[in-house]
Amino acid sequence: MRRGSSGGEPAAGREADVGAVARAAAPAERVGVDAGVDAGAAGEPEREAPEEPRAERARGRPRVAEEGDAPGVPRPPPPAPRAQPQPARARGLRLHREPPGKGRGCRRSSGSPADEVCSPRPVTVDSSKARTSLDALKISIRQLRWKEFPFGRRLPCDIYWHGVSFHDNDIFSGQVNKFPGMTEMVRKITLSRAVRIMQNLFPEEYNFYPRSWILPDEFQLFVAQVRMVKDGDPSWKPTFIVKPDGGCQGDGIYLIKDPSDIRLAGTLQSRPAVVQEYICKPLLIDKLKFDIRLYVLLKSLDPLEIYIAKDGLSRFCTEPYQEPSPKNLHHVFMHLTNYSLNIHSGNFVHSDSTSTGSKRTFSSILCRLSSKGVDIKKVWSDIISLVIKTVIALTPELKVFYQSDIPAGRPGPTCFQILGFDILLMKNLKPILLEVNANPSMRIEHEQELSPGVFENVPSLVDEEVKVAVIRDTLRLMDPLKNKREKQSQPHKKPLAGKEGPSDCEPAGTSDTNPNPEAHLPSICLKQVFPKYAKQFNYLRLVDRMANLFIRFLGIKGSMKLGPTGFRTFIRNCKLSSSSLSMAAVDILYIDITRRWNSMTLDQRDSGMCLQAFIEAFFYLAQRKFKMLPLHEQVASLIDLCEYHLSLLDERRLVCGRSSTAGVRPPGSSTPQGATPSVQQVEGHPPCCTNSAHKSSRPRHALS
Ligand code: ADP
Repeated sequence: MRRGSSGGEPAAGREADVGAVARAAAPAERVGVDAGVDAGAAGEPEREAPEEPRAERARGRPRVAEEGDAPGVPRPPPPAPRAQPQPARARGLRLHREPPGKGRGCRRSSGSPADEVCSPRPVTVDSSKARTSLDALKISIRQLRWKEFPFGRRLPCDIYWHGVSFHDNDIFSGQVNKFPGMTEMVRKITLSRAVRIMQNLFPEEYNFYPRSWILPDEFQLFVAQVRMVKDGDPSWKPTFIVKPDGGCQGDGIYLIKDPSDIRLAGTLQSRPAVVQEYICKPLLIDKLKFDIRLYVLLKSLDPLEIYIAKDGLSRFCTEPYQEPSPKNLHHVFMHLTNYSLNIHSGNFVHSDSTSTGSKRTFSSILCRLSSKGVDIKKVWSDIISLVIKTVIALTPELKVFYQSDIPAGRPGPTCFQILGFDILLMKNLKPILLEVNANPSMRIEHEQELSPGVFENVPSLVDEEVKVAVIRDTLRLMDPLKNKREKQSQPHKKPLAGKEGPSDCEPAGTSDTNPNPEAHLPSICLKQVFPKYAKQFNYLRLVDRMANLFIRFLGIKGSMKLGPTGFRTFIRNCKLSSSSLSMAAVDILYIDITRRWNSMTLDQRDSGMCLQAFIEAFFYLAQRKFKMLPLHEQVASLIDLCEYHLSLLDERRLVCGRSSTAGVRPPGSSTPQGATPSVQQVEGHPPCCTNSAHKSSRPRHALS
């Protein structure tokens, strides 16, 4: 009822109020990262869409989605709009597949005849796979006056909204709200590994993630390291939290005081886990532990573009917090902030206000902290740093997934994704990363027990306020027709006929009359933080540059692992072998590291060297070559060297290419060795090209 009465803009008005409160609460000075970003709130709770099954991920091209992929609660489809009968969709068929040539060019709508001849048309969104985000998505589309296709569409849509993963549907054009591989990347083990690589390179910068060990592989290491620290400091009484890999909603999580308390029997082999230092001194509000769900938009991987929502959610525990002791270790309502758990506590408080109850807006928390004299600009800027650094840790492998699923030069959609960052504030206000969710819950209603045993879904004001704004403004940022609409809103004579159906040419609400089609919308709630703060963080992107090298030598399109020939070619082309590093030693290095990593990782279908194994080999080579330097300088020096040699090689090949086009084959020119890509292939991966060409000619220090 509330939603209906709120019509097109209600959430907007409320959002503006919250933003104003947060801004009013924010002190003027800027700390760390330019705190010009509005102090916002964040944090959220509950049910995440289930993980995409690993084994389902197809290589090389997207697979056809199956309804059964996501055991999340599917919603009954809304009735089909009369004007748009969707018979094929009703039969579950996907008929929108276009000939490859249409692909991305079509989406960009830059100059195709259809684009030119249509009057401003609404952006089209396929919401048929939106699942639990459907309600918030519908409201967003309505506010934007775009066109929803709830049952899919025979023709391509501009935007596809998936509830679970990139592979929910078979798409070859447009934009999709998931990156391939994101679900894998944010699993607890993968995230821990990715952050650990960064911690090895930049320990200070990455101390926002609790020290973690991967079980069962690192159980002995865990035991040994804990014993070592305890021997050095007998007063150290740590607590650890054990979290099953791929788990969510607090499922299977427990606290321990000693490594010997880990429940090794049975479960770990079948279900690996991460064991992590437990943050014993969280910031409390009303004596309760709480965490923050912050929404982050990864708008683009290359170039990297990150936005953060100004407000998020805070989820509260429902039992007053005490530091962990053997007596209270099992009190989940005291230690775990998951909404899905605490909702079952008798103490859970539903509230219609955004600043009270067990789920609140983060801006209301900041406001409260500010009133107590806390420097909330500093808190917010620390959170932004945490988010940027975490994304920097995730992107290298995401690029490997991306080129595998959407190889350069083949038709495919472009991707963006809303991520849910779960962050804990320590008592000293330092933000700690708990986890990243690839499918943060976008539900805007919650279950309420009306009478004993009788439950009903009721709208949740706080969820709607935060989540609708995030989805709507994500769509606004991704709007593929924005430029065109702006141009067309300037008066000019419109051509008559369009290639697409009449419904596609319906005017988008205000476009014809209103020079600013977004005038009815509130200011955008997503703030760009990258590349805005790129200068401060680019020096951290070493693994990204290593991933570019790795991808360059992958050879076969769609592969994610480097074969022995590719690795040898990398060594040769980068001139890394020497009298002290023979090619035989290179082969042994490849075999040793690859074998170990393949025995550790779950995905053993492809043989070859994965990115993490390549990084380990790279670290080894860097340490050999540049002794006595700190690791990050050794690695940076080796990257510079590799990029330098590869840029020379590219230049030589360009010259050779030109000469051979002119019918002259210069002496000594030969076919590229092994898996080395041709110049054209390299050009298909702008990062390699750009990095080699630019960075090698710059001193390394320019990066920082
Ligand atoms: P899940 O995906 O199952 O929700 P999380 O990693 O988010 O797993 O952990 C669940 C909850 O446990 C968090 O919301 C937080 O309240 C608590 N928690 C997790 N890790 C830590 C930690 N290292 N220190 C303190 N509390 C933690």
